[in-house]
Amino acid sequence: MGFGHCAVGLAAKPVAPKVPLGILLLATMMLDVLAIAFGWMGIEGAKAGIPWSHSLLMSVIWSVAAGLLCSRIYHNHRAGVVIGLLVFSHWVLDFISHPIPFSSFSWRSWQWSYGHPLAPDLPLLFSGSPKVGLGLYNSISAAQATALECGMLVLGAAVYVTYTRRKREKQQSAA
Ligand SMILES: [Zn+2]
Repeated sequence: MGFGHCAVGLAAKPVAPKVPLGILLLATMMLDVLAIAFGWMGIEGAKAGIPWSHSLLMSVIWSVAAGLLCSRIYHNHRAGVVIGLLVFSHWVLDFISHPIPFSSFSWRSWQWSYGHPLAPDLPLLFSGSPKVGLGLYNSISAAQATALECGMLVLGAAVYVTYTRRKREKQQSAA
């Protein structure tokens, strides 16, 4: 999925006008990109969990690193702060929604359920440290979760479209 994360990136455009939308979206998805990369490298996965990409500690470190990098690239302090917050917003949304019973998802019935709540999967520090997660997606159906994410995406897109339209109108009236 990830629509919810994309929604945050779209909605951030007005506060970081210098940063291309693709970079804003990438920032919101960065922890998942890292998780895929670490999965390929074999240091994260079903057994090892996601301590390097998704622990609270590492998420703060990735957020600060991405923020510093972008404030350099765009010579803009605010762009760096926004990027850092976007990277960290991924952890906040994951904290609310995880663990996600996606491996039990059925495309035929559009349902997921293990019949019992899953254990939290977001470590606080390193592997072996306590894991957290409010588990929203444990208690709502796959269809409800999809509706929620699509709703967020529509809201985020509305913010983005309103912003770009106003900007175009301003440019036209100035020309
Ligand atoms: Zn994630």
